[in-house]
Amino acid sequence: MERTSSPAETEAVGARVAAGLEPGDVVLVSGELGAGKTTLIRGACRALGVTEPVTSPTFTIGHRYGGRLPVSHLDLYRLEGLEGEDPGLLDDYLTEDAVAFVEWPLDAEPVLERVALRVGLEHDGGDGRLITVRRL
Ligand code: ADP
Ligand code: MG
Repeated sequence: MERTSSPAETEAVGARVAAGLEPGDVVLVSGELGAGKTTLIRGACRALGVTEPVTSPTFTIGHRYGGRLPVSHLDLYRLEGLEGEDPGLLDDYLTEDAVAFVEWPLDAEPVLERVALRVGLEHDGGDGRLITVRRL
């Protein structure tokens, strides 16, 4: 567990998380709205060579970026669950050549293979955030 006190520090944690990733790895990122999930993923994407803006997917469930390897960024916040959805919904994002970051993974967890890391973020007063990284 570690504590950050600015978005830049959380991005730096993301960069460290990215360092150990290999193609096909999936990273689950959980925490309340505003906890810093997208911020941490932005830092990870930068470290993976992504130069384009890294923002929350809003009108789609995900973004696909080109870094040193393909990087997928999914946000499943608005999905109630995967039951009623097209079973191939996530297939374009979870490819063998890509690293994938998944915000709000709870409902999708059963279908996510190759989960390498689980990151949790919590508010800790003001700009403080507590971050846990668990290797699986
Ligand atoms: P989420 O994706 O979890 O909803 P975001 O990363 O989109 O969260 O937003 C986090 C917000 O909190 C941003 O506005 C960011 O600037 C702010 N913030 C303040 N302190 C921190 C911190 N220590 N780490 C990450 N974000 C922070
Ligand atoms: Mg987000």
